[in-house]
Amino acid sequence: MAYDIRTFGDPVLASVAEDVKNIDGKIVRLSQAMLQAMYRAPGLGLAAPQIGVQKQIFVYDIDGTPTTLINPRIVESSGEWVYDEGCLSIPGLYVEMVRPKQVLLAALDLEGNEVTVEADELLARLFQHELDHLNGVLMFERMTADQRDEAMREYRRISESGASGETRHISLK
Ligand code: ZN
Repeated sequence: MAYDIRTFGDPVLASVAEDVKNIDGKIVRLSQAMLQAMYRAPGLGLAAPQIGVQKQIFVYDIDGTPTTLINPRIVESSGEWVYDEGCLSIPGLYVEMVRPKQVLLAALDLEGNEVTVEADELLARLFQHELDHLNGVLMFERMTADQRDEAMREYRRISESGASGETRHISLK
């Protein structure tokens, strides 16, 4: 089954996802559907709420290794790193943001094993972004007030013009 990616304004993106209690065949199939939607977009990461499923699960692939993490939490974070962050649910916008440079993430894998991942720079940013999705938080809430005004205006303009593929970069201010 193919899923559409939900975009800004859809209430599912603003709600907190539930913990996964049983890692069963349904969860495995969900993870496959999420990877499929992510590659089709294409994107580097995708959280379940982005396809309308309120469960604590996200997928990513930044180096050719598709990975699924379940019930994730950030155990430690440190440093600062500036990066142009984008989101499949806010298509067209890339916003320069500061967040911690390194994070240590704990989660379950698809076999139910507890795993920890030390992440730096791009992967650390991806983890923080996907965890935000699982908590109903979108990039707009991480921007400065000035960036948010500009981002809202630009997003509205891009979506009203129907110009798919158009992108807008918003620098740190
Ligand atoms: Zn996103």
